[in-house]
Amino acid sequence: MSNNSKIKPIKTRFTILRSFLIRVFSFTFTAQIMCLNLKKPSTYILAIESSCDDTAAAVIKNDRILSNVVATQQIHQQYGGVVPELASRAHQQNIVPVVHQAIHQANIDKKDLSAVAFTRGPGLMGSLLVGTSFAKSLSMGLGIPLIEVNHMQAHILAHFIDEGQNKPSFPFLAMTISGGHTQIVQVNDYFDMQVLGETIDDAVGEAFDKSAKILGLPYPGGPLIDRYAQEGNPKAYPFPKPRVGPLEFSFSGLKTAVLYFVERETNKDPDFIDKNLADICASIQYTIVEYLMDKLKNAVKQTGINRVAIGGGVSANSGIRDALQQAESKYGWKTFIPKFEYCTDNAAMIAMVGSLKYEQGLFTDAEVSAKARYKI
Ligand code: ADP
Ligand code: MG
Repeated sequence: MSNNSKIKPIKTRFTILRSFLIRVFSFTFTAQIMCLNLKKPSTYILAIESSCDDTAAAVIKNDRILSNVVATQQIHQQYGGVVPELASRAHQQNIVPVVHQAIHQANIDKKDLSAVAFTRGPGLMGSLLVGTSFAKSLSMGLGIPLIEVNHMQAHILAHFIDEGQNKPSFPFLAMTISGGHTQIVQVNDYFDMQVLGETIDDAVGEAFDKSAKILGLPYPGGPLIDRYAQEGNPKAYPFPKPRVGPLEFSFSGLKTAVLYFVERETNKDPDFIDKNLADICASIQYTIVEYLMDKLKNAVKQTGINRVAIGGGVSANSGIRDALQQAESKYGWKTFIPKFEYCTDNAAMIAMVGSLKYEQGLFTDAEVSAKARYKI
């Protein structure tokens, strides 16, 4: 009896220890399996952008860009603006080498691709057709899904490309400012966006480019105005700010004001532009940036949303970047400014949308056609 009573507790202790160890092992094993399941499988998406005068391709792995290739068409410089027919021909010449380079730089094989994304619109029809047809054929040839992307949504969703930065949380306001568009959009979710206001005539990029043309600067003049503005006095020449609705934009009056101002001054002094280029550029830029900021302030007031992002080519402008940064401390906004290479037309932003749509299974079929006018 006494022997038994001594052995029993040892046995019991052994059983407890054994069941404890089994539990620990099975828990770690299950946890490992769960981790493996939770880990997103890698998806590689090739994206193609050809909406205007840049032929671009990029490869994204989940939300990280592996390559981002852009061939900017130089041919338009001699005409002072984009010539649609020449743009589509240049896209045809560029598209194969650009896509090839994007895949090569990503260090993958085209067999690794999970899907092909492309810009469906808005943009120039002839240009869009090149990217659309190429993407359709490639997805068919590789037997992988096809994803259509709205170029303006892409300018906004470029903020979700993973660069280790803070990403805007929903809802937020996005101001898309480019050569063809000027809009303020309320972004409720990735694919739930509402345009709050837009331009009633020219786009802001056009205002930069046309003012630059009046000053005799080559196309596209926006970046040049920005560069000369650095050295000038922004308050040297006051230009009027057009009065339209609180969330609407108008730029045609500014272009005319610059034209009349330059004509008047060069009649008095033929060297007026050369002597005062920096001041003129700084004054034009100051007027445009103030105007854009006024509209953003109106939008924040109207919606109560103070997370503000910008996108599109003009968001490369140093004036608007500075003004937005200052708005953080001045008005308590949280602002989101894209990396330079994701501002002007690029395929990385198309790839980001491709990746988000891939996760949600939002695919299209070979019947899809390019759409020159394509609302957000
Ligand atoms: P779109 O998609 O409409 O062709 P992009 O997004 O390619 O337009 O942007 C091109 C426009 O951005 C041009 O009008 C160009 O002048 C303007 N832009 C680019 N960089 C700057 C800058 N630093 N300052 C002002 N405008 C700029
Ligand atoms: Mg462009």
